Amino acid sequence: MNDRIQGSCLCQAVQFEVPAQPLVQTLCFCADCQVISGANSYTAYVVPVTELVRLRGEPGHYAVLSDQGRTNTRYFCRDCGSRCWAELESGVASVNGMALDGGSHFKPTHNHRRNNAPDWCAIDEGLEELPVS
Ligand SMILES: [Zn+2]
Ligand SMILES: [Zn+2]
Repeated sequence: MNDRIQGSCLCQAVQFEVPAQPLVQTLCFCADCQVISGANSYTAYVVPVTELVRLRGEPGHYAVLSDQGRTNTRYFCRDCGSRCWAELESGVASVNGMALDGGSHFKPTHNHRRNNAPDWCAIDEGLEELPVS
């Protein structure tokens, strides 16, 4: 079983491929994700970093220290500004689940950092809480 799916930024300059079976699919409510997304959470489609293949384009990137004290390197399209993925020190890539082709592949199974969700945000209590690691 080696199914792959593709994703891209809004302008298609950056295209990539990931396994159709992620490690986890989580909504991340951390402050960094909120600022970058302009939304209450980020749709994190988590795969081993070695399984993320860049097909087209040269995304820009920058490194930020997370509030957990780890360095996350965030990749984005230099042309349209879409977030593409982040590479975490733990060896996983947190891919933008809504950038996957078709827009319907991402289905959250977990919440992460939900204690940081804004108070106007409806939380799906049916999702498991992904612990901070
Ligand atoms: Zn783009
Ligand atoms: Zn986050």
